[in-house]
Amino acid sequence: MRDWKFSGNDFLNYPTYSGDDLGAVYTKEKTTIRIWAPSAQKVELRIYAQGTGGEAIRIDQFIKADKGTWAIVLVGDLKGYYYTIRVNDGEWLNETPGIDARAVGLNGLRGLIFNPGETNPEGWLADQRVELINPVDALIYELHVRDFSISPTSGMKNKGKYLAFTEHGTLSPKGLTTGIDHLKELGITHVHLLPVNDFSSVDENAPDQSYNWGYDPQNFNAPEGSYATNPKDTSRIKELKMLVQSLHREGIGVILDVVYNHTAFTTRSYFNQTVPGYYYRQKADGNFSNASGCGNELATERAMVRKYLLDSLYYWASEYHIDGFRFDLMGIFDLETMNHIRTKIDTISPSILLYGEGWTADTSPMDEALRAVKINVSKLDRIAVFNDDFRDGIKGNNFVPRNKGFVSGQTIQEETIKFGITGACFHPQIVYGYVEHSKFPWAKEPWQCINYASCHDNYTLYDKLILSCPEASEDELTRMVMMAGALILTSQGIPFLHAGTEMTRTKLGDHNSYKSPDQINQIDWNKKYSSLEVYKYYQALIRLRKHHPAFRMISSKQIREHLIFSEDYLPGVSSYVLVNHANDDDWRTILIVFNGNRNSIQFPIKGHIKWRMVAHDTTIDEESKIYPEGDEIEVAGISMLMMVED
Ligand code: CA
Repeated sequence: MRDWKFSGNDFLNYPTYSGDDLGAVYTKEKTTIRIWAPSAQKVELRIYAQGTGGEAIRIDQFIKADKGTWAIVLVGDLKGYYYTIRVNDGEWLNETPGIDARAVGLNGLRGLIFNPGETNPEGWLADQRVELINPVDALIYELHVRDFSISPTSGMKNKGKYLAFTEHGTLSPKGLTTGIDHLKELGITHVHLLPVNDFSSVDENAPDQSYNWGYDPQNFNAPEGSYATNPKDTSRIKELKMLVQSLHREGIGVILDVVYNHTAFTTRSYFNQTVPGYYYRQKADGNFSNASGCGNELATERAMVRKYLLDSLYYWASEYHIDGFRFDLMGIFDLETMNHIRTKIDTISPSILLYGEGWTADTSPMDEALRAVKINVSKLDRIAVFNDDFRDGIKGNNFVPRNKGFVSGQTIQEETIKFGITGACFHPQIVYGYVEHSKFPWAKEPWQCINYASCHDNYTLYDKLILSCPEASEDELTRMVMMAGALILTSQGIPFLHAGTEMTRTKLGDHNSYKSPDQINQIDWNKKYSSLEVYKYYQALIRLRKHHPAFRMISSKQIREHLIFSEDYLPGVSSYVLVNHANDDDWRTILIVFNGNRNSIQFPIKGHIKWRMVAHDTTIDEESKIYPEGDEIEVAGISMLMMVED
């Protein structure tokens, strides 16, 4: 048995390589393959006619080259052939496609020699990414490729495939729009896709036999094959580009959920089978550390790991015209690497969004002060983290099913709600000691904060509300979902919606559906009809946010100058005014009252402003001609009231 213990010192003498030609480079005349494998003594290349099975049709030796690299030049046109690499560092390791493969065969077991230019769909060179002026202008919608279309109610043909995103005119059984037309109609600006790089859990030959979210990465530079019409050739590349192109044509950006923090396998991962030990952090005893909770964690601070990340992200952003990246367990990454990523991505476009989970799943041997955890986000340049404080304040603790939040009538969450409204930025009217869980404003600027009430993890918003409020009526639950949306979509920072929240998505109480069947995970498009009121409310909220820059202030200074919380304390109520044309808004003054109580309240109105009501109860009407009078106003139970002075 091989010894898989290492010390970080083992790697200090490894030479580093700075070239941009790692992996396979194809031309009609020759294919060159270069890998970085400084600990190798011999490296073999095998060429196959197919992506799995069969005998190698030729075996060659790589030649030792510059700075720890090994290279081989294969004369002739090898397009369509598959290859594997096998390293011997004293003993033979496994055959792998290497760690740089951009095209792979079935189940990602072998690399595929291909001509990148031939994977471009028609019109690709004219494809434009979605450019944002400010990150807070984004409206992010988190979606799993398969969930989007797999239900019989989707009306789509390419069920479970990238190509479903290219279908227009699709309808639910009740005749409502589905698919990309739905996304356009809802008004979101960015689709955030759960992992689409090659992962290992789903058999690409039988994609209907199992389900997975895809947080089990295998090849970081090749797309997943189970979403392609043919997983054996380059369809996965072309069809993912068609997805991007189709969304871009509707003005919708594409964000990829990238899971570089760990690999599905540890000792037999392609990283460890190429340069044993190097890509992962080790504990003091020499074993792999496990801050991901999945058996390993990437050593982002090591020179060639950092280069790998920079090259890989640059490749996705440039080759696939990607508009943003969401980093899974970003708390594993060192701060320096994250800032390098920002700088590198800026060379393509500064408007590419970068954000991540500001936490880890377990302990890391690297000092937390050096890592990209939530409390360090102020040290990151234009990179945001998820606001789990707001999430839990809105609906109750994510991990305690019965726990209630502000929308479900919990009356100790007012300061946490204020914390979310200000995008986790400092505001002198917030008593931070009462905020759950953060006791200080961790964001320096609102673009460092992603506001959300739910995501793919844990219960859906609706399921969480059912569990925590077994006594609530369907009408009350619906109102809670609507008010959660109102909080997310009017608050400062970057709003983020879990797909289907706008139609009260349920996973039938499944709190961790990462490998649950389609029946649990799929978007049931019939819910759009049965929750039409919720859908229309979310649509109106999105429209309101887009029309009014007051909800998208670009600096914390602006927020402190223009946002004033009400001094009148009412249990279960949070309210504030946005004054003096915040962020150059047309509206001079905006008053917002959130009432989390089941019963209506009378809210005191001071001053002599002529108010116009734009939202009350379950309606939003920016053009409303309702002018309330008197020194108090009724706010319906579980609802948002908004009045404006033009
Ligand atoms: Ca796969």
